[in-house]
Amino acid sequence: MNDKQMFDGRECVVATMHQKEKVIAPLLKEELGLQVITPQNFNSDAFGTFSGEVSRKGDQLEAAKRKLKEAMDMTGVSIGVASEGSFGNDTLFRGAAVNRELILLIDKKEELEVVGYVKNNHTNYAQSEVENYEEAYAFAKSIGFPEHAVIVKAHRKAKKKADMVKGITSAEQLKKAVTTLLQKKNTSFSFLKKRQKSLWIETDMRAMYNPTRMKNIELATRDLITKLQSTCPSCQAPGYEITEVKDGLPCAGCGIETASTLSHTYTCQKCHYTEEKLYPNGVTRTDPTYCSICNP
Ligand SMILES: [Zn+2]
Ligand SMILES: [Zn+2]
Repeated sequence: MNDKQMFDGRECVVATMHQKEKVIAPLLKEELGLQVITPQNFNSDAFGTFSGEVSRKGDQLEAAKRKLKEAMDMTGVSIGVASEGSFGNDTLFRGAAVNRELILLIDKKEELEVVGYVKNNHTNYAQSEVENYEEAYAFAKSIGFPEHAVIVKAHRKAKKKADMVKGITSAEQLKKAVTTLLQKKNTSFSFLKKRQKSLWIETDMRAMYNPTRMKNIELATRDLITKLQSTCPSCQAPGYEITEVKDGLPCAGCGIETASTLSHTYTCQKCHYTEEKLYPNGVTRTDPTYCSICNP
C-alpha cells in the first residue's frame, strides 16, 4: 500500500489552537488526500508557551508527541499531526536568530511515525528592553509589526498573565499595553527603582501572529510530505527515510577520504528493509577545494 492509498479520504487531526491548519491542511489534502479537522477547545498552551507562562517539558519531539496524543484521544481520529517550534541564537548561523520547526505525523492504524523538519534563519525572533512607547514602537517596526505581533511584559522573566500583554497588532494596543504596565510598575512597591522604569518587549512567536514562522511550518510540512511519499522498495510503506549519513567521499585530487557525503542509508520502519545509496549528490569524487590535504 503506497502513501496515496494509505491516506486518501482519511480524517487527520491537527493539534493546534494557533491556526496552523491554515498552511498544513491544504498541503495534506492535495498531496496525500487527508481530510484535516481541528479539535474543539484544544488548549495547546497547556503543553508550553514561548512567552514563559508554561515551560515546555522534554525536547521538541516529546512535546509534539504529548500534544498530538491529547488531540488524538480527544477526537478519536487514528491519524494526526502536531508541530512544535524552537527559537534561539545559533553558532552555526554566526549568532543569528534561528527557527527550527518540526512536524510529527502519527498513524495509529498503520503504526507509522514520521517527522518533517526545517531549520533556518528566516525568523524575526528578537527581544529588547524599552522605557517608553516610542522605543517600543521602534522595536515593533523593526520586527515587521503590525503583520507580526509583539508581546509586552513588565520585566524579562514575567510569567503571570497580569504582567504581560500578548498578541499586540496595532499601535493603539501597543500604547495601551506600555502605559498600563508602566503605571502598574510605578505604583507597586520596590527597592529596585531603576528596574521599575523599563519594560520588556518581544516578538510573538505563535503561528497565527507570525507569518514568517507560518512559512517555516509550511516548509516543515513539505519535508514531512516528501518523507511520506518516499516508499519502501520492499513493502511499499510510506516514510522510507534517511537514517544515516556517511562522510568519506574521496578527493578528486589526492584520493583521500574527505568530509563530503559518501552515502545515505535508508531504512523502512515497518519491515526494517535497509539499503545504502552511494553518491547522493551525484558525484563520485569531491572537488579538491573541500580537501584538507589539497586545500588546507
Ligand atoms: Zn518496508
Ligand atoms: Zn585532496
